[in-house]
Amino acid sequence: MFATTGKVHHLSTTARDLLQKIAHDTGIPYREVAKRINKAMADGEGFIQSVQRLAIENGLKENDYSLNPVQIANEISKILKEDYSQTLMISAVLGQLVESQGEDRLPPPAFFVFLEILSDVTDTPRRVGDNPPNNVDESTTRIIELTTTLVSLICEWNETGVVGVSKDCPPRARDIARSVFRKTKLLQSGLWCCVSCGRIVEAKHTRALLCSECDSNLSDDTTFGLSERERTRSGYGRSSLGDELE
Ligand SMILES: [Zn+2]
Repeated sequence: MFATTGKVHHLSTTARDLLQKIAHDTGIPYREVAKRINKAMADGEGFIQSVQRLAIENGLKENDYSLNPVQIANEISKILKEDYSQTLMISAVLGQLVESQGEDRLPPPAFFVFLEILSDVTDTPRRVGDNPPNNVDESTTRIIELTTTLVSLICEWNETGVVGVSKDCPPRARDIARSVFRKTKLLQSGLWCCVSCGRIVEAKHTRALLCSECDSNLSDDTTFGLSERERTRSGYGRSSLGDELE
């Protein structure tokens, strides 16, 4: 961040970052910006397009207000590579949030993005000793913001949810977007492919997107390293783009 001209010059990586940047640059209060963008999106405009339109209306350069899906995916991947036990804890919390019925519910497509990137992460160092990582809450909140932002950019949405791959999706993120779309369709049809063993099961019998068998195996597995308190806690960050914009 080099704020030499009094303007914010950092690159935005989440929807919230981008809204804060345009609020800062236009002088329009953040809440007002969020309200206008929400309204535009409810009318069918894309997130980036509506932000850029606001930029143009205020005499700013539209190209300064964009988000890069590849950069967001890289940041998610970087966090997941930091620490093995932290990544396990983040996975457990996100698994809880995706099945939550409350306001903290993580949209399944955001969780699918998380799973896609997680499956590509292989070289996370295992730590020696059993000191818990100390910034899990912060990292989890960040992952939620990054995954909800990424899925809103690479997938095509309507009021029913994900309906395809966004035409703005860069080639490098197309495989992720396609997989998110497939998994979303499967879930919408009431079926689910267990993320652990791969069996097709009825979605209503899953827990954190695991079949009941894998879930009970996981709960018994003390090497998983999570106390009951950690497995049941919830309420990290905002859980959807819609909430975030309010
Ligand atoms: Zn299973």
